[in-house]
Amino acid sequence: MKKIGILGSTGSIGTQTLQIVRDNKDLDVRALAAGSNVDMLEEQIREFHPEIACLWDADKAAKLKERVKDLPVKIVSGMEGMLEIAVLPEMEILVTAVVGMIGIKPTIAAIEAGKDIALANKETLVTAGHLIMPLAKKMGVSILPVDSEHSAIFQCLNGEKRGQVDKILLTASGGPFRGRTREDLENVTLEDALKHPNWAMGRKITIDSATLVNKGLEVIEAKWLFDVDFDDIEVVVQPQSIIHSMVQFDDGGVMAQLGTPDMRLPIQYALYYPDRKPLSGDRLDFAALKSITFEAPDMEVFRGLALAFEAGRQGGSMTTAYNAANEKAVAMFLDRKIRFLDIWDIIEYCMKEHRFIENPSLEEILATEQEVYDMIESRW
Ligand code: NDP
Ligand code: MG
Repeated sequence: MKKIGILGSTGSIGTQTLQIVRDNKDLDVRALAAGSNVDMLEEQIREFHPEIACLWDADKAAKLKERVKDLPVKIVSGMEGMLEIAVLPEMEILVTAVVGMIGIKPTIAAIEAGKDIALANKETLVTAGHLIMPLAKKMGVSILPVDSEHSAIFQCLNGEKRGQVDKILLTASGGPFRGRTREDLENVTLEDALKHPNWAMGRKITIDSATLVNKGLEVIEAKWLFDVDFDDIEVVVQPQSIIHSMVQFDDGGVMAQLGTPDMRLPIQYALYYPDRKPLSGDRLDFAALKSITFEAPDMEVFRGLALAFEAGRQGGSMTTAYNAANEKAVAMFLDRKIRFLDIWDIIEYCMKEHRFIENPSLEEILATEQEVYDMIESRW
């Protein structure tokens, strides 16, 4: 039995991870954490019997504690609770599926405690990759990518020499607004932006996919996971989301990983790496598919991607400014407080105004996040 913990168990990645647990008999869920969803976390506790569960919201955690008092489960809350889960002695692998920078501290704590990480929470690597990757190396723990593109790259690199990689070809669906002009995007609504053509995901990442900020975050995530220069990462739009990413080698050969758009595959691959296990679901039918198409991303209209390359190249605290500005802007867009186009303007403004730190500590990353939030609040 492999003992796992899940941060963000009630979300899109979290629930799909639990589906994999249900379909296999050799995964033992020791810990679960969520934000405020008492009902779903209670159901998950009753089904999977973790020894500890956390709700970020303290009042909701108290409610949950009362509801599950018939079970031998410890209920905790807040960051303290998530950190207790991160270092749980018998847990072997932690699935980080919370959304946003809230994942940084628990991820670092888990690595320090020697836990492998199945990493979905890309915002953590984007902002703290320079701390996390060396720490993981020092502790001898694996950071196993859950993001479908990074899982694809990881699979393409199997058995290959890292020094012989020419470039990473990161694929993108282009999102719901692919092909639109800036004028077309003036009046798009929240509902329009939440309609992703190929994937059903949490609300924040769905908006990030519409702005191409998600691809931008993934470019920076790829830099940290695979130790490549930004000049060696190319984004390729592949609207059907069949090719999940590719790697080009020094001899010109390109390896690609293909499949139907189904996040269970990358999640399962991370949990069982290096083994492959059977997985139910549709298989690719090439005759029915007929064609897979490609195009270059429009980085002029979709500035979220261009700004990510810029932030990534500057490095230091700039990726935190980029990410924090986006997190706040997306939250405001989801609350209908700003327009779609404002998201890019807010990110650009915060990157311009940000006081750059070359090699930020964890405290400086979190201070930068706060500084960016304050900057946005005082202006928008
Ligand atoms: P969701 O919004 O669906 O789920 C987020 C999860 O995090 C929920 O369980 C939520 O709990 C929990 N959560 C939110 N705030 C807190 C908090 N303060 N403390 C503890 N838990 C909290 O997001 P996704 O599953 O879509 O995405 C999760 C991460 O995975 C993101 O970083 C995303 O970019 C990445 N990812 C997602 C993909 C996908 O297909 N969904 C694909 C690739 C990457 P509650 O329900 O109680 O609010
Ligand atoms: Mg992805």
